[in-house]
Amino acid sequence: MRKSMGKVKTVFICNECGYEHPKWIGKCPKCGNWNSFEECETFIPDSRKKAGAPANSPILLSDQSLPPAGRIVTDISELDRVLGGGIFSASVNLIAGDPGVGKSTLLLQMAGGLSRKGISVLYISAEESFWQIQERARRLKADQLSLPILIETDLDNILSQIEQKKPDVVIIDSIQAIFSQEVSGTSGNISQVRECSSRLFRSAKENGWSLFLVGHITKEGSIAGPKLLEHMVDVVIYFEGDTLYQYRILRSLKNRFGPSHEIGLFVMESEG
Ligand SMILES: [Zn+2]
Repeated sequence: MRKSMGKVKTVFICNECGYEHPKWIGKCPKCGNWNSFEECETFIPDSRKKAGAPANSPILLSDQSLPPAGRIVTDISELDRVLGGGIFSASVNLIAGDPGVGKSTLLLQMAGGLSRKGISVLYISAEESFWQIQERARRLKADQLSLPILIETDLDNILSQIEQKKPDVVIIDSIQAIFSQEVSGTSGNISQVRECSSRLFRSAKENGWSLFLVGHITKEGSIAGPKLLEHMVDVVIYFEGDTLYQYRILRSLKNRFGPSHEIGLFVMESEG
């Protein structure tokens, strides 16, 4: 079911670099990979803005009425370092890693720390129940915090909650589990990942909140992995480690706001 007016266009996207082409081609002219193209639906609204929505106006560089760009320090020192000194204003950050490595735990711990400092965080889970998250929060001693947890998979509902709550930081676990009604296919396919992430990124940049997106690494070719996302986001952090040990490595592969290839050694305080 489609909610808004517009049309769906079919394009082919290189899974390795995000290059777009109207027809299927065997070799990507941008990155040189073979057989990397996948059919992808893009939703094109009738007009870029919904009727009645105000258009953006130019802002003077000297404008003092806006909050200054800055960084929010998470107080997880290794994460702050890998981020380049904290979370940059209106940044889009991808946390990629194998399922079960502890991405959700790290981000819940970050959310708890930010919430304690009075920073408004919206934690959105598309994969787990409220009780699973509450149980993890209990282990992290964060279950007494008034941290809003939204269990939702529909992108439109996610965006409208963000619009209402106006958080500073939004966490979505995971990009592969949310879907948009504007394009076809199940969550996790290339059309869905591309459509959901581009609409989230646009909202983050326009409204000034920072996004942390969980991306699972998977070997299945049909799942659009973090590879495609890497080209769209500002910061790419890989979270690696053996699930048997409590040591984890945070590694920034890309950072538009700081040095990339920073490494942080991280000790999980709790399993999960
Ligand atoms: Zn390519």
